[in-house]
Amino acid sequence: MADETGKKRKGTALLAVMDENCTSCAGSPICEVHCPVDDCINLLYEETPQGGLKPYRVWVDNEKCIGCQMCYSDDLTKIHQHKETGEIYYEYASRYYDSSKKLLEPSEVPKKFQLQLVGTETEDRLDKKICPWDAISMVEYDEALETSAYFYDPADIRIVDGLYVIDSKGKEKLEEKQKEMLGE
Ligand code: SF4
Ligand code: SF4
Repeated sequence: MADETGKKRKGTALLAVMDENCTSCAGSPICEVHCPVDDCINLLYEETPQGGLKPYRVWVDNEKCIGCQMCYSDDLTKIHQHKETGEIYYEYASRYYDSSKKLLEPSEVPKKFQLQLVGTETEDRLDKKICPWDAISMVEYDEALETSAYFYDPADIRIVDGLYVIDSKGKEKLEEKQKEMLGE
């Protein structure tokens, strides 16, 4: 399980936090499909009174999240670096631009496998949110470590047959904490 006291990584100012509005997208998390980091957004199941499992919400492994916002908005400029030359390329709406932001001809665009995502830029165009339930926030790193513990606490998550599971006590504890936070 991720160590929540892990050291702050350089270059990661923000973390994604999924809150109580998360429905897990009925077990097929849309945000997870957008995340470029393996096993960063994870489906969490709750135990049912009958002993079964049902999707509860997603949790973000704070040790893995790079703060790229790709789970948050579909309206970002992606910044890629060429793996061999180190050149920077910008991608927005499937178009590629060079480091001076000049639009490139398709023949000038490197192949996808030659590029690695090194970050994103928002330019205040965050109006195409990925989550249909508006359950995702991008939060300053230290605050995110604190806030995310209201919605998923790795200490209470077990792995059962390869699935992340929270039991009824863990769920109750989270929901109590959430009520406190919301002043209910
Ligand atoms: S897209 Fe929103 S509702 Fe769906 S799993 Fe992600 S945070 Fe939860
Ligand atoms: S901010 Fe990026 S790395 Fe973090 S959960 Fe969202 S998509 Fe994944």
